[in-house]
Amino acid sequence: MYADVVFPLKLPPLTYKVPDDAPHDLKGRIINAPLMGKSHYGLVVSVTNESRLEKKKNIKEIQGIHHLFASESTLSFLRWLSDYYLAPMGIALKSSFFEEAVKTSVGPVREKLSNEARVKNNEQKMEAENSELSLVYDCIKNKNYKSFLYHAPSISHEYSLLNEVLNKSHSDMHGAIILVPEIGQIERLARMLKNIFGERVCVIHSNLTKKKRIDTIARIIAGKSDVILGTRSAILAPLRDISLIAVLNEHSPSFKGEEGLRYNARNVAVMRGFMEKSCVLLSSVCPSVESDHNSKIGKYMPIHPSPSPIYPFADFKRPKIKITDMKKEKAVAISRDILKKAKVTTSENGRFLFLVNRKGYSLIRCEDCGNTVQCKKCNVPLVFYKGKNTVRCHYCGHEEIVPENCEECKGFNIKPFGAGTERIKEELKEALKTEAILVENESLGMEQDPAITSFVIGTPYATKKLKDEKFDAVALFNIDGLLAQPDFRAYERAFQEVMQISQMVKTEGSLYIQTYAPKNKILRFIKNYDFQGFYNDELSQRKTLDYPPFSRIILFNIFMKREVGKFLRDIQKIICDTNTNGFELLGPIEIPSSLKSYKHCIQILIKSKDRKIIHNEAGELLKKLEKLKGIKINVDVDPLKI
Ligand SMILES: [Zn+2]
Ligand SMILES: [Zn+2]
Repeated sequence: MYADVVFPLKLPPLTYKVPDDAPHDLKGRIINAPLMGKSHYGLVVSVTNESRLEKKKNIKEIQGIHHLFASESTLSFLRWLSDYYLAPMGIALKSSFFEEAVKTSVGPVREKLSNEARVKNNEQKMEAENSELSLVYDCIKNKNYKSFLYHAPSISHEYSLLNEVLNKSHSDMHGAIILVPEIGQIERLARMLKNIFGERVCVIHSNLTKKKRIDTIARIIAGKSDVILGTRSAILAPLRDISLIAVLNEHSPSFKGEEGLRYNARNVAVMRGFMEKSCVLLSSVCPSVESDHNSKIGKYMPIHPSPSPIYPFADFKRPKIKITDMKKEKAVAISRDILKKAKVTTSENGRFLFLVNRKGYSLIRCEDCGNTVQCKKCNVPLVFYKGKNTVRCHYCGHEEIVPENCEECKGFNIKPFGAGTERIKEELKEALKTEAILVENESLGMEQDPAITSFVIGTPYATKKLKDEKFDAVALFNIDGLLAQPDFRAYERAFQEVMQISQMVKTEGSLYIQTYAPKNKILRFIKNYDFQGFYNDELSQRKTLDYPPFSRIILFNIFMKREVGKFLRDIQKIICDTNTNGFELLGPIEIPSSLKSYKHCIQILIKSKDRKIIHNEAGELLKKLEKLKGIKINVDVDPLKI
């Protein structure tokens, strides 16, 4: 007998001879075998007949056979991960905690898990069961695949629903994976889960120490932990029996990886649920356009839980959203409406949060011709730092003294434009004689406790840091910048961001949005919390332009240290030789390199309505590109940023 073995390396499966005394259930086991002159751990993905192979003489023998790592469904899942994300199976294996599993000395015997681990029984018997929720319970109990989508009014509703589902289906739960986008959300949920499942709960995220991660994987493989709470990578945990996969804040871009295997954990959750026959529960206060579409075409089932004692739903109110027109203001960063509200807020001992998605003082613009000072290399606006009198590129780090005159018209009328954190702080101090505190990143601005300060200025980092806090008022600056991004998801991201921020405002409070384009239709949807209006508009736009979810996109970023012109010609030639039947091929274009060690980057985009075509074609293109020497290729399937 022969076995195909995958190693956690950038290699295809390799064939080895199976020793005569090998156990019959070899598939899915960890083995060690010689590779490149050394012994390596790998995974047996298939066992084949002798007759199918040639050159038998050169085939080496498996040296050691260890415990079972992957079931039949997990193997299919790994194969899908590798095919779908156009990565060698070894890379999919490596991302799935294979190396940690190798380091655990646990045997293949699974301890029987007992439900007695439960610490507290807070199950509540309820009559007149919501029929949609009973479908969720049925799926968990009977191990059927189905994906549900819950559009929650608030983040607390998301937690409450999960709590209710876990409590009610506790006795049928064989294993569960619960995903959140940010590490900061884990602590609160871990408490809730431990209350229900006790020692069965374990946590996986990128801040775990190597030792802790190995211990956790050992517990999972030994069957001691089968309720896994974690960020993105937890979806690949080696759990063998899964009743439920829950994805909270399912719209979050944090579920998409920008390194290594670039999978989207939300999409992977749905596929893993399908393959392992589990119930998949997606929830968000602002589901992604793709998920809304999936619920409209019947791929996901929308659920609308009715009120219950642990699931408060009645009289839910949202804060008022006010759009302030900056065209009426002159040369200031904060509008009069917002300053007025800020005065009232301090006099009532309330708290006001100013959200600015730009550090520094402002941008610099020529008042005569409208030209914004930009980084020559990256073509992005340079940010003005008033204290140092410099402008800096936040993309490449380039810094220079503020130019004296306009590059375009040579005029001297260049002025600060737009709002950065420094400028908001300065204007607040002038107008209200108060010092606001800055929450910009881990190291800055936390010398004062933002929980007791009335004025907090924060970057998007602050929305993560202060997520569970409630403010009397929040002002959002620079929405125009978000809406103007050259990406078909720009409106969706802006809409989601505002909806997420509205969760930080007390229900009787207000959310202010400053804009120079108050007539933008997205702002109208935002102001009225008109989700359906937004989804319908966005979906019809994307349908017209053939963007996801009506097509699929695969992006190739090709990095090189030098000779960009030569590679551009080589790539151009490969593209010219490609028959683009059934798909669109855009590029190659040169874009700023996002990798420090590579100076240049060339981008190619493939788009098609047909999933099979796009995957085949992208696979073919990748093979041809890989023949070029001296380049690094990153393939991004279903990219979130274009
Ligand atoms: Zn000018
Ligand atoms: Zn730059």
